[in-house]
Amino acid sequence: MAVQRIVIENCAVATVDAGDTEHASGHVVVADDLIESVGAGKAPDGLENVVRRVDGTGHLATPGLVNTHHHFYQWITRGLATDHNLFDWLVALYPIWARIDEQMAYAAAQGSLAMMARGGVTTAMDHHYVFPEGSGDMSGAIIRAARETGVRFTLARGSMDRSEKDGGLPPDFAVETLEGALAATEATVDEHHDASFASMTQIAVAPCSPFSVSTELMRQGAELARRKGVRLHTHGSETVEEEQFCKELFGMGPTDYFESTGWLGEDVWMAHCVHMNDSDIAAFARTGTGVAHCPSSNARLAAGIARVPDMLAAGVPVGLGVDGTASNESGELHTELRNALLVNRLGAHREAALNARQALRLGTYGGAQVLGRASQIGSLEAGKLADLVLWRLDTLAHASIADPVTALVFGAAAPVTLSLVNGRPVVEDGHLLHVDEDAVARSTRDEARRLARIAGQA
Ligand SMILES: [Zn+2]
Repeated sequence: MAVQRIVIENCAVATVDAGDTEHASGHVVVADDLIESVGAGKAPDGLENVVRRVDGTGHLATPGLVNTHHHFYQWITRGLATDHNLFDWLVALYPIWARIDEQMAYAAAQGSLAMMARGGVTTAMDHHYVFPEGSGDMSGAIIRAARETGVRFTLARGSMDRSEKDGGLPPDFAVETLEGALAATEATVDEHHDASFASMTQIAVAPCSPFSVSTELMRQGAELARRKGVRLHTHGSETVEEEQFCKELFGMGPTDYFESTGWLGEDVWMAHCVHMNDSDIAAFARTGTGVAHCPSSNARLAAGIARVPDMLAAGVPVGLGVDGTASNESGELHTELRNALLVNRLGAHREAALNARQALRLGTYGGAQVLGRASQIGSLEAGKLADLVLWRLDTLAHASIADPVTALVFGAAAPVTLSLVNGRPVVEDGHLLHVDEDAVARSTRDEARRLARIAGQA
């Protein structure tokens, strides 16, 4: 079949390419699943097989947003333990989480994905680490929800095997065995990981955190990921309590512990990285280890402010993460652009911490980098996959702000007029095209109530 083209023109364009090229009025031409051309002014004349022409007047086109850390299942445990730090919050929620089943995980994934996709996310990720015995095919259900929503997806197959009896934080009934976790993770990679250029589904190996995972699972998990050629993900250096835990149990801080278990490298990205000293940041930079910065969750759990400006200056790849919605109830990534900028300005670098372009880069190209997909997505460049968002900036919320990138990052959450994934529309005029938002709202409410009932009886 002949190539089919979508032409978008008359919009501002922020390409987020290496030179931060922008066009005050430009065009993007999409040919099937690829970007064919990006530039100033109108699209080239004489294009054949144009199936759709979009007038982007009043809009800004950017690469689609890339989320690099989330826990979808938490969509049905939002708004609980609202005044706790990380460890107290985890201890309050583990017993509830340990009761989830496949049907709950599916509904929660639908809710999480719908909320993000509606707000311009074109690549989602889920770090799922709760696999109660007999809970069904959790990974399959989550992947199905992502396919149905239409977004690109990385499932970080998590695990926990260090429970209270081994000095860990989760209750004994909430964890898997070392052998069980490794075998199930390998099976998930074998069944679902697609390494192709336009891949819609990738799997990462993702033991949960130093305080819920044995050293052996960290070590063997890293070996498994490298044998399979997939990426590695975990939580790191999130709170002062975690740092104390590592020093007491392992005789070293989190970054040294990660290094000793094979967990620094350009195939690794870690969520949070709030409590990092200069030598920790240097180790991440030297090894190419990536960071998922989650400013709202870090604020919600009073974890602290990650040193993002120092990481960027050192050359550490940094993307943005929503984190689970039990610690970031809004579940939106476009608002994290603004929050990353604002929170980092409260840190040591003050007004020089981040600017609007840097915040947009974190949410797009930076995310693609830490997910290992920077050659395919993350910027608007000819030859890359056509994942892009057309943000509406001519309404009450933004019309009086002259600079479109400033409007997008500093202003209110902008409505999405169109988002494309692999050149296929996922959102039109603020509405999801492939899932029924109201039906998802109902099923997430029903499953949240069912979980509360089951957990209350336990
Ligand atoms: Zn997390």
